[in-house]
Amino acid sequence: MGIVVQKYGGSSVADAEAVKRVAQRIVDAKRAGNAVVVVVSAMGDTTDELIDLAEQVSPLPPPRELDMLLTAGERISMALLAMAIGNLGHEARSFTGSQAGVITDSRHGKAKIIDVTPGRIQKALDEGAIAIVAGFQGVSQDTKDITTLGRGGSDTTAVALAAALEADVCEIYSDVDGVFTADPRIVPTAQRREQISYEEMLEMAAAGAKILHLRCVEYARRYRMPIHVRSSFSKLSGTWIADPDQLGAIHGADHGSGQEGHDMEQAIIAGVAHDRSEAKITVVGVPDKVGEAARIFEALADAQINLDMIVQNVSAAATNLTDISFTLPRADGQTAMTALARLKDAVGYDSLLYDDQIGKVSLIGAGMRSHPGVTAKFFSALAAAGVNIEMISTSEIRISVIVDEAQVNDAVAGAHAAFDLDVDQVEAVVYGGTGR
Ligand code: ASP
Ligand code: MG
Repeated sequence: MGIVVQKYGGSSVADAEAVKRVAQRIVDAKRAGNAVVVVVSAMGDTTDELIDLAEQVSPLPPPRELDMLLTAGERISMALLAMAIGNLGHEARSFTGSQAGVITDSRHGKAKIIDVTPGRIQKALDEGAIAIVAGFQGVSQDTKDITTLGRGGSDTTAVALAAALEADVCEIYSDVDGVFTADPRIVPTAQRREQISYEEMLEMAAAGAKILHLRCVEYARRYRMPIHVRSSFSKLSGTWIADPDQLGAIHGADHGSGQEGHDMEQAIIAGVAHDRSEAKITVVGVPDKVGEAARIFEALADAQINLDMIVQNVSAAATNLTDISFTLPRADGQTAMTALARLKDAVGYDSLLYDDQIGKVSLIGAGMRSHPGVTAKFFSALAAAGVNIEMISTSEIRISVIVDEAQVNDAVAGAHAAFDLDVDQVEAVVYGGTGR
């Protein structure tokens, strides 16, 4: 009997009715002959509400206590789900992350999984029960304190458990029918991808596609765990994330709850992703000499800031001064500006500019490697849409541009159309969720 791990996000278990509906789906998977492990997120916007509550009692809640509080959200949904399944006549046992053997380091709020020892889960399965696991949490190996994996971390819990249990597939249920070629909220004619490789999905997640947590995709690639992203609100087959050579096995493994996949073609462009969470800082008038860039970026590294794009202009011959621009998470904007302000005299730059009205638009596709002209087509599409490019960065299979935030939607729609990704019949349905 094969093991299936299913993960349900907050919008799939938003209220009692939803919990009952999901319970029915889980029971169906069990009746189809699978051993079923379920990872569940907190109901609806519970995590955000708990954070709001914490901030009302303390402006800076201690990370240990915040983790203790937030993990309660997932415990509520796991217990309710187990009850609802029991009510359908099947045995279900719920487990906290710690009980499920999710061992992490001790960094509260962004803990990394270092081991998974799912003895109790395996035992529950051996005894014919359905195991329900609270997502996004674990226990620190050193301190034995409860930790969380960072927002959206339940996906990672699911893949980690699937890998440790050697499951056939990790099914990730959300409120859309899979991975689309663009956000259907911006491009209603976006199409669902049947299949995406791990490397493309990694680039999409890093470029801002919110459907999957970046670390969950990294984990899946490391263990070659196939992920099936699909909606809990429909029976449609979703998107398979796996390498092309794994797809033969996958065709036979639909677990009785959807249509068969079609031929899994390798498209040139996997999709267009966007991200509105970054800001841009420009250090104006940096003396063009050895060591200045190092000094600037060391200060940012010391402040624990993750940078994304970096551009240094050619220095004007007359002045020998150059400008350095980079992007970073908006949430870190203030910290970065403070760290740089301290360097003003040492580096001798002119001024700092801060801009958080920017967005990043990325075109992703493994086919770029072997198809020349993709960049030219992308940039002409942006020009035709009247979008000005502020910064550019590329990887082997991605081209990203920074544009004015107000033009993100036009840029995404323009690029999507230029690469003939639109479908005639609107197929994207957004079933639920507040997008919070
Ligand atoms: N409930 C957590 C969050 O909202 C974890 C998750 O949903 O994956 O971030
Ligand atoms: Mg959530």
